[in-house]
This record gives sequence, structure tokens and C-alpha cells, in this order.
Amino acid sequence: MSLYDDVARILIPEDVLQPRVRSLAEEINQVFTDQDFPLLVCILKGAFVFLADLTRHLTFRHEVDFMVISSYGSGTVSSGVVRILLDLERSIEGRHVLIVEDIVDTGRTLDYITRNLRTRHPASLRICTLLNKPSRREIDVPLHFVGFDIPDEFVIGYGLDFAEAYRNLPFIGVLKPEAIARER
Ligand code: 5GP
Repeated sequence: MSLYDDVARILIPEDVLQPRVRSLAEEINQVFTDQDFPLLVCILKGAFVFLADLTRHLTFRHEVDFMVISSYGSGTVSSGVVRILLDLERSIEGRHVLIVEDIVDTGRTLDYITRNLRTRHPASLRICTLLNKPSRREIDVPLHFVGFDIPDEFVIGYGLDFAEAYRNLPFIGVLKPEAIARER
């Protein structure tokens, strides 16, 4: 029994995912210069794999920092409560900031993060998300770079978890209902 047996189907295979991460990086390369020296804010834990791949395709000087945000816990439905568990190391006042997120669902998490970061007076604030579920949106947040629009399904892999597992899968997949039921 392997964790691969819990995958009902692969939504985005690795050979589609990786070229898109590269082309997304090329879009971002058009926007920033070395002089901008932007700060990439990786939202943990889900975006760590995406950031690691993305950053290696970026050609301008940049810095990375991390925020840990509370999310679903072990379920598949958002609690709607957003909390910062770990904050940025330094001030972002006057800095160009690019938020790197794994997935935007209702938009509540990013709405909270962007409102919070704006109070710190960055020079600019943009959002890059690998995945977007437009049909689930409750709060409108401006997304500047989007990897893939996906349907309303709970996905795992490439950093995204279910009950802290499956982050290491190299593709975006959908879990079997039995795997979800096992945690309940
Ligand atoms: P939102 O606040 O937009 O509803 O949710 C954003 C957060 O919920 C994401 O950063 C992610 O942690 C989690 N999330 C939303 N949809 C999914 C999903 O399909 N799979 C996983 N693993 N996490 C999700």
C-alpha cells in the first residue's frame, strides 16, 4: 500500500506542471528588475515546493521570506478563520512584494494576508498563485499571476496536503474518498 494508491486521478501531471511553472516565471521576469529587488513571500506550508521551482526560473535579484498561515487542519473545508502563525523576518516598507501562494479557494486567506501586508506600506504588492478555483470565490482578490484554473475539487500534491500528507507527490491529484474517510 503506497500513498500513490490513495490518488483517484491525476489532474495536472508533472510534464504539464513543470513547463507552466517555467512560463509563469517568464511572465514574472517581464515585471521585475534587479533594481526592484523584490521580496517573494512564500505562504507555508503549501507553497514551498512551488516556490522552490519558481525561484530557480527567475532571472532578477530577489529575496525570499516565509509566512505560516493556519488553514484547514485535517479537513477539506475551510474554517474561514485565518491566523498568522509565523510572520516575516523584516519590514516590507517601501519594498516590492510578490506573494507566492499554492491555491486560492474562497479567497479569504489571501484577502486577510493582503490587507495585513498593505498596512505595512510596501512599494507594491502582487500575487502569484499556482492554482485557482474561481467557482469557489467568496472574496474578490486581484491575482496577477495564475498557473492553472481548476474545478471545485480538493487537490493534493506538489506541496498541497491532506492531513499533512501527500505534499511530496510531484503532480496535482485528487484523492480517493476512502483516503479522506480514513481521517474522519
Ligand atoms: P481560501 O482561504 O482561499 O479558501 O483557501 C486557501 C487555503 O486553503 C490554501 O492556501 C490551502 O492551504 C487551502 N486549500 C484550499 N483548497 C485546497 C485544496 O483543494 N487542497 C488543499 N490541499 N488545500 C486547499
